[in-house]
Amino acid sequence: MIIVALDFPDADQALAFADTIPCADCAVKVGFELFLSAGPELVTALVERGFKVFLDLKFHDIPNTVAQACLAAAKLGVWMINVHAAGGIGMMQAARAALDGASHRPHLIAVTVLTSMDKDALQAVGVQGDMQSVVTRWATQAMQAGCDGVVSSAQEAQLIRQHTSADFLLVTPGIRLPTDARDDQKRIVTPQQAAQLGVNHIVVGRPITQAHNPQLALQTFVAAFARA
Ligand code: C5P
Repeated sequence: MIIVALDFPDADQALAFADTIPCADCAVKVGFELFLSAGPELVTALVERGFKVFLDLKFHDIPNTVAQACLAAAKLGVWMINVHAAGGIGMMQAARAALDGASHRPHLIAVTVLTSMDKDALQAVGVQGDMQSVVTRWATQAMQAGCDGVVSSAQEAQLIRQHTSADFLLVTPGIRLPTDARDDQKRIVTPQQAAQLGVNHIVVGRPITQAHNPQLALQTFVAAFARA
């Protein structure tokens, strides 16, 4: 599945764009900026239009607070939500338990190491070990706690796949076609490479949202991801 990142500043722009793409072909991602300006009403409007919505708010708090936030997100009818694996097994288990009691159960995804962090940045906040062992540990803990998958860089996808079950979902941003601008992404992979690495869902923003013809751009990504 292609997840289109709706990185727009307000609801009008997000909905105007969403109305140009077919909801059956993709999911859409609502992050901090859009959610803070447009609120839950926008999420409801996207769900009502038939979109699968990934609410990318990366919860990280005490277990009870995260569990309640997950429940509130589930009530909006979203398809996927996420928490930080760094919040700990107890926090992820509480999120899982809350969602199991919900009438609608979104995919629960854990963020492993943010791609903006390197080994030095991890050590500075007290996380010891090389990047691969930290990513492996957090992904394994996410699976043990009942998460459905993780967000990670494509570079770590194979490693995570080796240490988790075959149905564990891998969600990966930083995707570009060979002809696309890199923008500010440093470590990019193509949709074909992502699929070959075992990624289940790719997050794509500007190559689709800023395209002259977004519908055509989306179709190109769908075809490239399916062709691998
Ligand atoms: O426009 P682009 O395809 O670069 O957008 C990628 C999306 O994925 C953005 O919403 C960005 O915030 C998100 N993301 C990312 N890298 C991460 C985590 C999230 O690019 N490590």
